Amino acid sequence: RQLSSKQVMENEKKFHANNYEPVPIVLSKGQGVDVWDVDGKHYLDFLGGFASLNQGHCHPRILKALMDQASKLHHTSRSHYNDVLWEFSEHITKLTGFDKVLEMNTGVEGGETAVKLARLWGYKKKKIPANEAIVLFARGNFWGRTLAAISSSVDPWMYENFGPYMPNLNLVDYNNLEDLEKALQNPNVCAFMVEPIQGEAGVVVPDKGYLEGGRRLCSAHNVLWIDDEVQTGLGRTGKMFCHQHHDNARPDVMILGKALAGGVYPVSAVVADSDVMDCFTPGTHGSTFGGNPLGCKVAVTAVDVICDEGLVANADKMGHIFRNELQRSLPKEKVSLVRGMGLLNAIALNTDFCSPWDFCIKLRDNGLVTRPCKANIIRFAPPLIINESQLNQGLEIIVKTVNDL
Ligand code: PLP
Repeated sequence: RQLSSKQVMENEKKFHANNYEPVPIVLSKGQGVDVWDVDGKHYLDFLGGFASLNQGHCHPRILKALMDQASKLHHTSRSHYNDVLWEFSEHITKLTGFDKVLEMNTGVEGGETAVKLARLWGYKKKKIPANEAIVLFARGNFWGRTLAAISSSVDPWMYENFGPYMPNLNLVDYNNLEDLEKALQNPNVCAFMVEPIQGEAGVVVPDKGYLEGGRRLCSAHNVLWIDDEVQTGLGRTGKMFCHQHHDNARPDVMILGKALAGGVYPVSAVVADSDVMDCFTPGTHGSTFGGNPLGCKVAVTAVDVICDEGLVANADKMGHIFRNELQRSLPKEKVSLVRGMGLLNAIALNTDFCSPWDFCIKLRDNGLVTRPCKANIIRFAPPLIINESQLNQGLEIIVKTVNDL
């Protein structure tokens, strides 16, 4: 049954929980950077499934892996061995340079896994008294919607009316080493979990030195540094992992998600060296679908696509062109700031001219898909397979839309 856009939106409103406000556009097809709505109108996808479609829509190699594995063995649970999990584990540990991996499904489960691992390490290795472990987070963080994630959020939309909250998830200012150092004086702190760029907060890039400094302070206080690369990882910022933009900033624990399986299948992972990861023992953590052969095979192929197609270097190159062109062309009175790294970028819109929502509707009308991020910030995170001609088309649409305000 092919419904019109209007009918689809009405039906979704009627039958579905009211937990998102989607931009009014009904997509029915995607290929690479291109998407089409149910009426056949074409758009460039500059949000990329909330920065999860690094390899683009419907990548043929990833789809083939999905189909081949799905018709062979798609799910076992970890009650038995399957013949793909080892391959995934070898692949991801080689890619990241950590000893061990533990896979989950969504990004927030990756975060939960990292926090549990840190607490476990805190009790087993750091000898923190029972139930006293503290995990530090940076204000402005976003790592999902579970009770632990919202308990560490400063955004009332996330946490209001969902209490009581989980204790001992304490906050420090982002990009502020003094504040971190103060909080680290408490001997019960087991970990500091932070995004190398705060994506949902509006693509907030910390000062040079912040990650190195954080690393140094965590080491000095025997605290694990957990690097949340769910949004920034896998080439998005022009390095395979965003922390690699910085010297001496190797984390103790890193969380991956989103593009790990190309946005085709939900796969997330936590990586750490053995002295930390081995704190988990049989029965202490798990998931019915985590480590299933279908997700593992798709992830192995999705990672190969990033490497084989040079997507990391492309993100770096295209990102420079994107920011330079926006900085050069956009009138300062309408757009006060352009920021980002690689292909994770944002602009700050002067809302005297237009609301962020209306601006995204105008972008849509001109053939480009994204949605407002925080406050007056509009984020752009196209697939990393984007070429210069597609990037220029996107730039033209953004510049024209701003100029027409
Ligand atoms: N961590 C970061 C940095 C994120 O940006 C997100 C989602 O946007 C998450 C974790 C949560 O991922 P998921 O929505 O797959 O649970």
